[in-house]
Formats: sequence, structure tokens, C-alpha cells
Amino acid sequence: MTTTAVPITQRQPLTPVRCASWCADGSGHAHQTHVEDQYCHSIMLDMAASLHVPQDAEPVTVYARKEPGEDTAYVVVRTPDDREMRLTVDEVQRLRECLEHMAWVAEQDAGARNAFEIGRDVGRDRDGA
Ligand SMILES: [Zn+2]
Repeated sequence: MTTTAVPITQRQPLTPVRCASWCADGSGHAHQTHVEDQYCHSIMLDMAASLHVPQDAEPVTVYARKEPGEDTAYVVVRTPDDREMRLTVDEVQRLRECLEHMAWVAEQDAGARNAFEIGRDVGRDRDGA
């Protein structure tokens, strides 16, 4: 048995998929060459990440994505060095909470270097000091 490659121009168009309501394409992705490329993606939000290593001019990009045939979407975070982190909606909420908390922690050192030591105030209250 031999396999003959079919030129892209002679391939049958793909059956359109049902796009998510937020899909930036919205056409059903029938123009794609492969079924696995018929995924929905939202608009992409770019954010400068000035401390990212290696530093370059590329931003962190965040967008929602849904694979063809799947009902559940997820969120993609792509770093300037082209790494992707895929998160469920619940994981995004947890990450948001963690980021907000750690941003708060990082700010504590700005004005009161010794005021934020876990357990220090508890011991002081117990001793009545
Ligand atoms: Zn779509």
C-alpha cells in the first residue's frame, strides 16, 4: 500500500465547527488545513513583563481557547520565550488570588521592612509586650 500526498489546494474543505461565542474568528475554522487547527481563540491581550528573563520586547499574551469538539474552554498564558501555560477557569481564579496576595506581600517591604514577619505579632500579643 502506498500513500500519496494530496496537495493542499486539492484537499476537501473541512466541516466548520461550532465556534464559541467569544471566538475571534467565528467562521467555524473551515479554512484550516487540519482538524486539530480548528480551535477557537479569543482576542489576545498583551501585557508587558519588564522583569521577564530573557528580556526582550515581546509581551506576555493571554487568551481563551477551546479545542474542536470540546465544550470546555481554557486560558493560555504565553511568555515571551514562547512557553505556554494552559489553565482551567478555576485555576485562573486561584492564580489571580495568588498573584494578588503576592503583590500585596511584595509591597509590604516598601515602607516597613520589619513589620511583616509571620508570627512576630502573635508572640508579642501572647507575652503582653
Ligand atoms: Zn472558532
